[in-house]
Amino acid sequence: MQILTNQSLAKYTSLGVGGNAEKLIIAENYNDILSTLESQDFVIGEDLWVLGFGSNSLISDKGLPGTTVLYRGGKIERNGSKIVVDGGVWWDDLVKYSVQNELWGLELTTEIPGNVSGAIHGNIAAYGQQVSDTLNSVEVYDLQQKITLTLKKDDISFSYRASSLQQNPHYIILRATFDLSSSPLHELRYNSALVVAEELAKDPNNLQDRRVIITETRRRAGSIFHPDDPTSEHTAGSFFKNPLVTKDQAINLAKYDETGKTLERIQEQSKIHGGDAQRASAAHVLLAAGFNRGQTWGAVRLHPSHVLKLENTGGAKAQDIKNVADLITSTVKEKLEIKLESEVKQLGQFD
Ligand SMILES: Cc1cc2nc3c(=O)[nH]c(=O)nc-3n(C[C@H](O)[C@H](O)[C@H](O)COP(=O)(O)OP(=O)(O)OC[C@H]3O[C@@H](n4cnc5c(N)ncnc54)[C@H](O)[C@@H]3O)c2cc1C
Repeated sequence: MQILTNQSLAKYTSLGVGGNAEKLIIAENYNDILSTLESQDFVIGEDLWVLGFGSNSLISDKGLPGTTVLYRGGKIERNGSKIVVDGGVWWDDLVKYSVQNELWGLELTTEIPGNVSGAIHGNIAAYGQQVSDTLNSVEVYDLQQKITLTLKKDDISFSYRASSLQQNPHYIILRATFDLSSSPLHELRYNSALVVAEELAKDPNNLQDRRVIITETRRRAGSIFHPDDPTSEHTAGSFFKNPLVTKDQAINLAKYDETGKTLERIQEQSKIHGGDAQRASAAHVLLAAGFNRGQTWGAVRLHPSHVLKLENTGGAKAQDIKNVADLITSTVKEKLEIKLESEVKQLGQFD
């Protein structure tokens, strides 16, 4: 465990922004985080902040008061088709472990950055697979009762990029159990991945091949981030969630689509996610509202290929990123009457 004072948090986030943590604790395993949480009476969001790899967080330039805990590290254990994993484990190490052990259920989330806790907290998803599909239970530390609790999956509600843990911030995720399978649980139906499979001559129905296919598909989509890789781009992935739209709004959006396929895509996307809700691509919404790929505001840029990724091209402040995000949200609301929701969590005080 490392204990530091007045440390800049910028280097601990994928956006590369954020002020100082008054006290920074890097918890390298389950015991480190548990003993830290038990050591005093904390109030989350006031004198305690818990992060993983900061790949879905925008931390204020004013920094974070009190103690910031980064949960980074831990162990993975297998018991038949169940895997018990510490919340600080890098998510992709868990996926790699499951694939090496011939267990299906996580492979389509290959190379999503962050730790296991962040993944559960935000119900990460990719290529038709989400964390909640195979989650069995979560061990949390309850800051209010000062005890550890095991929450079964049914005790938590999960939806698109959300979990009820977000409304219960006094629960700190310590460890989780996943129920995986010796046979495929999901079909790989995303065209972008199937194209890669064909090009690489890999079988989308083979577990090891799937990991290779998804890695390459994500590489092409600019969706890979490694904290130790200095060439990684400074983004937090998609900044906004795909919004819910009415049929009329979907038809309206289709008019702005470059390929003329938005409506079809909306319906296809909705089918793949198995829901009846109509979700439009947030990227199309931004384009329809008049924003462009590569558009810049000082050091903040909409990624030249992936408009939904707000990028710090060097020297941006957290407030600059927040200002651009707010401008996008208000413009989309004004022009299209669509409410955009941030996927990225804002921590600390902004203007
Ligand atoms: C290049 C790139 C690509 C991405 N692609 C995807 C994708 O395909 N699909 C997808 O769903 N997401 C994607 N993301 C978003 C990101 O990878 C996920 O949200 C990830 O799970 C964040 O994990 P983290 O450890 O970095 O979380 P952090 O940013 O450190 O934390 C996120 C939130 O979780 C809370 N939290 C963290 N740890 C705990 C804990 N122990 N207990 C309670 N709360 C906690 C934090 O307080 C914060 O609110 C991408 C991000 C990047 C940068």
